Amino acid sequence: MSELYRHLPSMDQILDELTKDEDIAALPRPLVKDQADAFLNVCREEIRSGAVTTADQLELKAVLPRMIAYVRAHSRPHFRRVLNATGVVVHTNLGRSLLARSAIEAVTEACGHYSNCEFDLSTGQRGSRYSHVEQILCDITGAEAALVVNNNAAAVFIMLETLAKGKEVIVSRGQLVEIGGSFRIPDVMTKSGATLHEVGATNRAHVHDYENAINEDTGALMRVHTSNFRIVGFTKEVSLPDMRKLGDKYNLPVIEDLGSGSLYSLKGEGLMGEPTVQEVVAQGADVVSFSGDKVLGGPQAGIIVGRKKYIDRIKKNPVNRAMRIDKMTLAALEATLRLYLDMDVARRKIPTLRMITASQESLKSKARRLADAIRSELGVKATVAMKKGFSRVGGGAFPEYDLPGTMITLVVDGVDAEDLREELLNTDPPLVARIEDDLFLLDPRTLTSTELKLAASALRQAVDSLQ
Ligand SMILES: *Cc1c(COP(=O)(O)O)cnc(C)c1O
Repeated sequence: MSELYRHLPSMDQILDELTKDEDIAALPRPLVKDQADAFLNVCREEIRSGAVTTADQLELKAVLPRMIAYVRAHSRPHFRRVLNATGVVVHTNLGRSLLARSAIEAVTEACGHYSNCEFDLSTGQRGSRYSHVEQILCDITGAEAALVVNNNAAAVFIMLETLAKGKEVIVSRGQLVEIGGSFRIPDVMTKSGATLHEVGATNRAHVHDYENAINEDTGALMRVHTSNFRIVGFTKEVSLPDMRKLGDKYNLPVIEDLGSGSLYSLKGEGLMGEPTVQEVVAQGADVVSFSGDKVLGGPQAGIIVGRKKYIDRIKKNPVNRAMRIDKMTLAALEATLRLYLDMDVARRKIPTLRMITASQESLKSKARRLADAIRSELGVKATVAMKKGFSRVGGGAFPEYDLPGTMITLVVDGVDAEDLREELLNTDPPLVARIEDDLFLLDPRTLTSTELKLAASALRQAVDSLQ
């Protein structure tokens, strides 16, 4: 056995051969060497375990294909594109929204060049970072002023820190939300220095509950959108107009964490229960915050709109600097917002809205194209079928709505559905699929047209390595 170790190819030979591969030649040399070393350790282990028994199995040309695959797989950047066949449109773990073409171009422009990021071209003096999006946010939402920060969690924090630190904030018990990734309203409240004053019962809160809770320490009335859950049955929450009246009577700001915060009304699609930002502003919320990358379909950002006197105070908060939005995000956000100047353009050009509002015919046709692509990759090994099923908006928006569409189910001879789903996480690019009722399922809603072939190719890679 110890004889065999001496037949392992030398590093010089290996590097010569490896760098004939174009992709590997483009990688940093020390990285390739480390991975080739790691591969040799795999070979040594195979000798030790008795999996390799003859010298010719260790010849360079015998191990080369595996070595190339190994080095490629282990030298890839960690951050990778994936194919989303889950049907969850705003999938937080998969990066939420895809940007519209014009937003992608704006990012490229912003990061490869100097810009007027914080420079006023009309005076040649220092300008404001927020100026790029404030006016357009006001135009779209009807608010007096606007501000953007890193994400909505930061937006909620800075609203509270600025307007209610050292004071009480009244919130209904039915709205004490926890969002994925440990964002909890009571905890954020504590960290901001404000004190949570809960009112009502889990399922019901009344105007008099709020009114009875108001005292000299009250700093704000707050509403939180119950993004990812619904309380159904015998329920009542105080409406925003009623809250506005209370705010006026006691001279208190009404703050709203709208969560997803849609600028496009999805009522036409039968998706109810999520007010648009425009509606919330019109109904008198003083300060409203929402995410840039949920249903809005832009980059990660926290957007705050509302009355100028409050927004001005938030802008001056020194904490703001620690939450500031970067230039690439700003560029993407402005480009995305410009699409909202014509709602029909927004629906067609913003991928998130396009996926949510896709017609049954277009989903069916996409499913058919995906099925064809899979059949031509897998041939007789695979039984591909179409069936009715449901997608989700995701991102904690419209949790009670299923979006009907056409799914692809796939059965491959001799391959377990769960094994297939797992193996697809190792393909290039990886594909994230679903198992439903023990069936392997792909939802084409969240694959773009150009990704259908890539998805079929990922399936072939996975099936090849499982068989
Ligand atoms: C998603 C959400 C947040 C957090 O927003 P991020 O942009 O993810 O930071 C806060 N509040 C509500 C109600 C949400 O739905």
